[in-house]
Amino acid sequence: MSASRWAAGLALLATGACQSPPPLAPDALDWAVREASATIECGEDIIIAGQRFAVGRPVVLWTDEGGYNAYQTSIRPGSEPAFVDATGRRYSPGRQTPSQSSRTLAGPVSSDLAELGRAVDQFVVHYDVCGISRTCFEVLHHGRGLSVHFLLDIDGTIYQTLDVRETAWHATRSNARSIGVELAHIGAYPPSERVAIERWYALDSEGPRITLPERLGDGGVRTPGFTGRPARPELIEGRINGSWLVQYDFTPEQYDSLAALAATLSGALPGIRLEVPRDPSGAIIQDTLSDEAWRSFAGLLGHHHIQTNKLDPGPAFDWERLAEALSGHFEPGTK
Ligand SMILES: [Zn+2]
Repeated sequence: MSASRWAAGLALLATGACQSPPPLAPDALDWAVREASATIECGEDIIIAGQRFAVGRPVVLWTDEGGYNAYQTSIRPGSEPAFVDATGRRYSPGRQTPSQSSRTLAGPVSSDLAELGRAVDQFVVHYDVCGISRTCFEVLHHGRGLSVHFLLDIDGTIYQTLDVRETAWHATRSNARSIGVELAHIGAYPPSERVAIERWYALDSEGPRITLPERLGDGGVRTPGFTGRPARPELIEGRINGSWLVQYDFTPEQYDSLAALAATLSGALPGIRLEVPRDPSGAIIQDTLSDEAWRSFAGLLGHHHIQTNKLDPGPAFDWERLAEALSGHFEPGTK
């Protein structure tokens, strides 16, 4: 592909992760297609402040072959990511104190687990609007110059892109105090734009399944021949930040890995409580938190709880399912 065509493709992609509608430009990702992913080795540990912690689910680290490395500072020819700093970084080393700007690079580096535990108390859930983690990393890192600690693909594989001691650029006012994960998912849409959903799913005798466009090959999905199905077969409707949206659910494999990841993070960094945003009646909150509520909230939350202009992870994200899964990880006296 020529440089100009490549750049045009990326310009379309620049509206990608965490935004809608989906920017899937034909041919834009030719260069990103790699060999069949079955060769990717994986472990089950994530890295927190330089230490390994077992998640019990497949994890590919940024240092592994086939991993996604958010530490790399190179700029792809023809791309103009908006947020790269002068050194080529798309993240801030370490963690800043709350009084400092989340984009300030000159802050104290929290390399120690206990110190990091005092700085971090939120785990932010996103969907990527890319549908697969490989595209998400290309859009976030190379296209936009942003970062997130984890990508969680449709088969439940967790990709860690950098140590959680670093401040990733994924959730504005929560960056300094949070860890982020991008769930591979094509997104939520107003009912009038549901064609975007229909392009990404097919119906067969067992219900809806994810269908990758032919140009994406196996999509970089690590599990050979994986068939991704929404955890609930029906389209889910709901209101997020005032917008009525439809969306298919995430895969069971994603919920299993997300719960395991959240429990591991909370175990190492107890400031992240295994709780989700609820109103006084116990119902899940689906709007942006007030400043006061946001300041005091320590736990798992969605991007839309942080910013009024965000919709992810959308109405189909099953917070109750996640809370139920996490309740099994709770051990009295450890929190
Ligand atoms: Zn987001």
